Amino acid sequence: MPDKNTVTKTIVQHSYALTEEKVSFLKGIAQDYSKVKNYVYRRYSGIRNVNRLTPVYTVLNEMRVCGLRQQLDFPVVYYELAVADAVTDIKSNWSIVKNKIIDLINANENLTHDDRVYICTVFKMNGVFSAVLNGEDYEMPNNSKDLEINVKKCNNLIRRLVRKYISVPKTENTDSFKVSPNGYKYKDGGIYLVSRMPRQRVFLPLKDNRISDRQILITLKGQQAFLTVPVETRIKQHDDYTNTVYIYIGNRDMITLSNGNIYGADLESIVYTETVRLDLKNRERAALVRNYEKQAADGKNDKAANIERNNLGRKKYDSMKARRRAKTQDFINTEINRMLQTEKPSHIVVTKPVQKNRTKSYSRTANLKMSRSFSAYVRQRLAFKCQVNSITLTEINSKGTGSVCCVCGGQGKRLKDKFTCEVCGNETTIALNSAKNIEKKFNQK
Ligand SMILES: [Zn+2]
Repeated sequence: MPDKNTVTKTIVQHSYALTEEKVSFLKGIAQDYSKVKNYVYRRYSGIRNVNRLTPVYTVLNEMRVCGLRQQLDFPVVYYELAVADAVTDIKSNWSIVKNKIIDLINANENLTHDDRVYICTVFKMNGVFSAVLNGEDYEMPNNSKDLEINVKKCNNLIRRLVRKYISVPKTENTDSFKVSPNGYKYKDGGIYLVSRMPRQRVFLPLKDNRISDRQILITLKGQQAFLTVPVETRIKQHDDYTNTVYIYIGNRDMITLSNGNIYGADLESIVYTETVRLDLKNRERAALVRNYEKQAADGKNDKAANIERNNLGRKKYDSMKARRRAKTQDFINTEINRMLQTEKPSHIVVTKPVQKNRTKSYSRTANLKMSRSFSAYVRQRLAFKCQVNSITLTEINSKGTGSVCCVCGGQGKRLKDKFTCEVCGNETTIALNSAKNIEKKFNQK
């Protein structure tokens, strides 16, 4: 169980290539898992059950006796997680719908302030919300007792909007499922899973010998199984980590410190090379698909089938992409570790990520998208490693750390990755100038 001296991270374990028999066993479990989820979605997504989803035991108890498990001959260790999983999805579906409607209510100018207060309160109190939807009696919430509102009109509006926006989730996913700890056992260099036959287990040989005692997500990809496993990592204390470091997270070099040290040098070119390659592959593929569609449309089925067989398989493309990505992530992690070991920080100061307007597209090329997604990954890993190593991480606002000169405070010029100040003649890199400004800004407070 998690305690305050550990943090949870997820690792992925890979199986060796599995036999046809084992693959079809896993497929069967995944298919039934999704059948159970869809059943729960259909039965519990409606307004009748909106107040019966928490705690999950109510639904679980009903699902235990509804006969579905017996009908599918589905082991309990998968069945109950599928039910719980589905309930979680329904709840998050409800909160998405509620938030959407609250936004609409707040933007609706035909409503009075009092109307809005009442309606938003109803959405926040699940018991009242359920009563309104189902036309049952309820006690007026305290903050709404003195409001001047037409309750009937408001409740009708609530019901109408909910009817309009509520939907029943559905899953098409038939290659993954979760298993609870009493459904597996790590042994003999792999994992034994509960099967549909009493006392018989299915063995998946694994490429590493890590073990877990938590829920595991199992995903089937081709002949291989991937296990997503939460593991506890002990928090480390380093008595010799006493420094404060100021970090600029960049697109070219991953991390630049205000002392001039750089880690993850030229991350950009690693990401860029990869992006260009993928772009090229994508374009080649698109041309092939067009050709395929043309041949098929012309009725040249042999030719079309030929193109399909030889070129349209995604498998190789996907696995190559995944491998490259893993390699880049390895590089990022190694460099962050090297930074921690070298700099020995007890405190790290960075800037908050800049929130761009999400509705506008800032990235025309996949390249930018890619490096942005990696900079999010860098931040995430840095935060995690700080947690594991008992390092304080402070995020300050980036305002004033980019365009001004770190020496004289004048407005500098930024060209590519260079920073030039015409006031004092300071010439440096954008990254180092920013890192120094972060140090300055943090210590001014
Ligand atoms: Zn200057």
